[in-house]
Amino acid sequence: MGIWLEGRTLAGKIRDGVKEQVEHFRGLTNQVPGLVGILVGENPASKVYLGTKERTSQRLGIHSEILKFPGDIEKASLVEEIEKLNKREDVDGILVQLPLPPSFNPFEIIALISPEKDVDGFHPFSLGSLLWNQDGFKACTPLGIIELLKASNIDILGKRVVIIGRSLIVGKPLAAMMTNEHATVTTCHSKTENLPRVASEADILVAAIGRAAYVTPDFVKPGATVVDVGMNQLKDKNKAKEFFGEDEKREKDLQEKGYTLIGDVDPRVIEKAAHLTPVPRGVGPLTVAMLMRNTLEAFRRRKKFQ
Ligand code: NAP
Repeated sequence: MGIWLEGRTLAGKIRDGVKEQVEHFRGLTNQVPGLVGILVGENPASKVYLGTKERTSQRLGIHSEILKFPGDIEKASLVEEIEKLNKREDVDGILVQLPLPPSFNPFEIIALISPEKDVDGFHPFSLGSLLWNQDGFKACTPLGIIELLKASNIDILGKRVVIIGRSLIVGKPLAAMMTNEHATVTTCHSKTENLPRVASEADILVAAIGRAAYVTPDFVKPGATVVDVGMNQLKDKNKAKEFFGEDEKREKDLQEKGYTLIGDVDPRVIEKAAHLTPVPRGVGPLTVAMLMRNTLEAFRRRKKFQ
């Protein structure tokens, strides 16, 4: 039976550190970091994510704004808005909540953000800096995963890392970060042949797929560390019982919200792995904590505060 690797405690420590620094700089300079989120369209999940980022910013003393635009906004207007934010002295971080409506090419839009304000780490300059293994903003979810492994004293150097998922948000930047940490990395995706066999070679297995409980114990080498990035809604009460057993919190979720959150990893993998991150309270809280840290970093660099 393995150990649950919760990200919540580490995320709390990171947020406390950011809050302390924000207060320090406010006392010293009467300035605080500013973060602006851009929401285009009405995606309900995007609204929830941006709301969490805004509330967390406010709790840490970071000035936060969300700019909302209709899904059919002209590209030229969106370009103009981002250019205005690039010029604003009080804005240190700009993030465009993805996914954008299909009429927009996200690459073109993200590339408009000034790299010095790219706190999500998705700008081509930030991603290029990552491949060059140079300083620059790093994507928040993969960065959180690396921090969690390090804080839990789990060695990365020389280890076999298998990442299932090759998105720009998680899989690809994580593969680069793990390579920079001297791991031997395999990235898998929907076209990978013999996925369970490839996955079962991993010392560290990361699942960022978006399919509930897809990674079963067959995918896992005994004693591996398994990181579950997925966040899926499970609505079936019988399935929930099968995965989680008798669990009051899950039953309450199902009754009140109509679903409980489940990752991409079958939670029974804990019986075979050395470590498994839970869903919720695993990787999720670290993503927002890293965004806060990146925003503070953007403020310090722009204002040249040590
Ligand atoms: P995404 O852009 O949809 O990418 C999913 C990846 O999984 C793709 O590379 C896809 O392969 C691969 N995939 C899909 N089905 C597969 C299969 N049957 N076998 C192997 N690979 C398969 O998703 P994402 O944005 O990376 O997010 C993944 C999950 O993480 C979602 O549940 C999301 O909600 C969650 N997430 C959580 C956080 C957090 O803070 N906790 C942050 C971001 C995302 P192809 O490339 O071949 O299509």
